[in-house]
Amino acid sequence: EVEAAGGLAQAHPLVAGRAASLKEEAVFAPADPTRRVGTVSWAGEKQVEEALRIGSERAREWERVPVEERAKALETLGDRLWHHRARLLFLLREEAGKTLPDGWTELQEAIDFCRYYAVEARRLFGGLRPLPGPSGERNQIGWRGRGLFACISPWNFPLSIFLGQIVAALAAGNAVVAKPAEQTPLVAAEVLRLALGAGIPPEVLHLLPGAGAVGEALVRDPRLSGVAFTGSGAVASRIAQLLASRGGALAPLIAETGGVNVMVVDATAAAEQAVDDILVSAFRSSGQRCSSLRLLLVQEEAAPRLLDLLAGAIEELVVGDPRDLSTDVGPVIERGAQLELEKEAWRLARAGKLLAKASLASTASPGGYYFCPQLVEIPSPALVDREIFGPILPVVRFRIEELEAILDSIARRGFGLTMGLETRLSERIRMVRERARVGNLYVNRPMIGAAVEFQPFGGEGLSGTGPKSGGPRYLEAFGVERVSS
Ligand code: ADP
Repeated sequence: EVEAAGGLAQAHPLVAGRAASLKEEAVFAPADPTRRVGTVSWAGEKQVEEALRIGSERAREWERVPVEERAKALETLGDRLWHHRARLLFLLREEAGKTLPDGWTELQEAIDFCRYYAVEARRLFGGLRPLPGPSGERNQIGWRGRGLFACISPWNFPLSIFLGQIVAALAAGNAVVAKPAEQTPLVAAEVLRLALGAGIPPEVLHLLPGAGAVGEALVRDPRLSGVAFTGSGAVASRIAQLLASRGGALAPLIAETGGVNVMVVDATAAAEQAVDDILVSAFRSSGQRCSSLRLLLVQEEAAPRLLDLLAGAIEELVVGDPRDLSTDVGPVIERGAQLELEKEAWRLARAGKLLAKASLASTASPGGYYFCPQLVEIPSPALVDREIFGPILPVVRFRIEELEAILDSIARRGFGLTMGLETRLSERIRMVRERARVGNLYVNRPMIGAAVEFQPFGGEGLSGTGPKSGGPRYLEAFGVERVSS
């Protein structure tokens, strides 16, 4: 089914439903950069200006559409994603290098976002609610949209993060200019076409494929009422600075960035279970998730057996082309990422010792951007002081009496996204819950959640400004409260 949905894809700037015809560039598959996936043309100043003008002028019209109708359009979009799943899975595989299971998880999450934010829109944006007040007064409060939002998204979830931001902004009654990552314009263009076909008016949803400069041009413009951003911490700070200095109305920034996510495995943990959870946490999506495990801490007594099991399991992982159904780990996104990972692996192995490495399947294209999962033992957690975005897993042994101090020093670094814990002791769970400063703590399970509704996702400190996506407060950040008395 996925193969049958193949065929070259196209992405253009799409402003008010009109595709700008500009110079086209080819897009190639990271699994095999000789494989052409489609073509993209990048947005120029003219499209940026038009999207800002039309989006800001027409936002109010969308806000006046009854919430029920807005919510229905988003649910229809969810249904359309399902209907076109084979094409989306094909594009996720070819453009972003996702294996089929990774593509499925992402597709499901995107559909969940559509359905959940539709329900949330009805709950929050459905009309005025009475507020108690002194007798004789009639106080009412209600949520409204802000105006025009820029949604700036990364390549690692080109469907679910890209769409989750857009759907939240639309659900709250805003118009949207969407700026997908330059690595993944084709998935974005496909999703945008599905959204317009679901009844979202083209004047309130615009697509601008482009690099960081396009995002920056949007953020600098005072017609923008807010920014939803997911990506690196450096760019999040840059956007915050631009918003603060651009003049015009104050605009909120909803930012989600990465983390240096730790998993603690103590001596009481079930070793086989822990190994399964570690493999998923560190290597699913080639380690290219914001929530991925970046540093494993294993209690000394458990280390010999656990690391032995883990090393064996890593050596059995199949690294290769995601077209091949036996592939566990696909390529990383681009050549630059591959080189960066090679450098990091070298740095860590020099400071410590390489314990295990997966190998590349013979069917994988030699030119593909592959990086084989590695387990490296290092002497100190301090060697992992920034996010390494890929399938390298550094491990440190600890003595149990050091654990609290280690957790405190990790909390002081200020990354607050996810943490994993494998233990059978309830007092240890309590202690870690108390000391960890992370948005999502995963106990005796992989560091991957449902993201929508059940385990809303998002961090604090250097990892983001919250509120959590997929949670009950997310839509509020896209709206304003108005009171009438
Ligand atoms: P990553 O490390 O995941 O590539 P980035 O933060 O570099 O994360 O990119 C995330 C998104 O932010 C992308 O869509 C990118 O084009 C955009 N971006 C990069 N630089 C800027 C900037 N200065 N202003 C606005 N958006 C930017």
